[in-house]
Amino acid sequence: MVAVREPRSVSSPALTDRFGRRHRSLRVSVTDRCNLRCRYCMPAEGMTWLRRDELATDEELVRLTAVLVSLGVSDIRITGGEPLVRAGITDILARLRALPGVAEISMTTNGVLLAEHLDALVEAGLDRLNVSVDSLDPGRFAQITRRNDLTRVLEGLAACERHVALRPIKVNAVVLRGLSEPDVLPLARLARDRPYVVRFIESMPIDAGRTWSSEQVVPGEELRRMIGATWPLREVPRTRPSAPGRRWRFGDGRGELEFVSSVSEPFCASCDRLRLTADGRLRACLFATSETDLLTPLRAGANDAQLTALIAETVDGKGPGHGIGTPGWSYDGRPMSMIGG
Ligand code: SAM
Ligand code: SF4
Repeated sequence: MVAVREPRSVSSPALTDRFGRRHRSLRVSVTDRCNLRCRYCMPAEGMTWLRRDELATDEELVRLTAVLVSLGVSDIRITGGEPLVRAGITDILARLRALPGVAEISMTTNGVLLAEHLDALVEAGLDRLNVSVDSLDPGRFAQITRRNDLTRVLEGLAACERHVALRPIKVNAVVLRGLSEPDVLPLARLARDRPYVVRFIESMPIDAGRTWSSEQVVPGEELRRMIGATWPLREVPRTRPSAPGRRWRFGDGRGELEFVSSVSEPFCASCDRLRLTADGRLRACLFATSETDLLTPLRAGANDAQLTALIAETVDGKGPGHGIGTPGWSYDGRPMSMIGG
């Protein structure tokens, strides 16, 4: 039997950190497994997966999320790994959506299994969707993801268009220098021709294979110059300061892009995100060096007050920023696929 820690008093309200940031967004990772092997995320082979008994059950994920929602989380994003490979994902989504206080539930998916799940997910309450597509070229898609599934992903995206309430559908694209440059304009064009906001994401040093180097990063500013040479862009003023993406519209008003430039333009000062991993650990930052195990105390019988104390302590310990790019910085924590991207 694992001892349950007694609550430690923290000076700030549970979800407000020492820098005054209030945390309203929660990413819930439902699995560390995936049906793709994107090269900036996982190695081709040799991943070690969580054991079944290490994974939080549906009941446990809902209970932990419910405590966080009772403290002020209002937006939930379901992610992974690939969330659609988790059995019972629709039921999990419905249960999280039904928690009193949840204003919006979204999902980030690679889209491979989307066409077959989408109607049920919308029925269960899905409000928003991000689909990751790094290339519209089948060969390069396969080179990046190490699987030949572009057609299925595009079928999933097309299915989204039938659900007008999901709009704008967001398309996530990680850009890798020396590989993705030919994809930039075709992806930007997608935002002009379809009801999608295309988000260009800088590659971050959080891959399981530890292959990241700063040379891979194509800064958002460089991408805007590339795209702007064909279609002039103008920045859209921020309406949600905590949003990670800076928004830009095409000058002719036909569509919108976002740039998630975590490396070159960090947005830590306005971060309102927490992450719950598939094994029930809470992280206050993607790049945090520590995480708080909530699952073991939960299994040992912790009540909501005891879980709240652990949550408050984690939020209280959140640092001011991630520090990527500062001399000597390195990341030795768990990879993105285990934390929930
Ligand atoms: N499997 C789903 C997917 O790919 O959409 C959800 C999980 S994935 C970890 C969430 C997002 O993180 C995806 O858009 C993915 O492209 C992005 N991502 C993964 N590894 C990344 C990295 N090293 N740097 C930047 N973004 C990354
Ligand atoms: Fe899987 Fe998403 Fe990671 Fe690609 S980015 S390997 S789809 S978890």
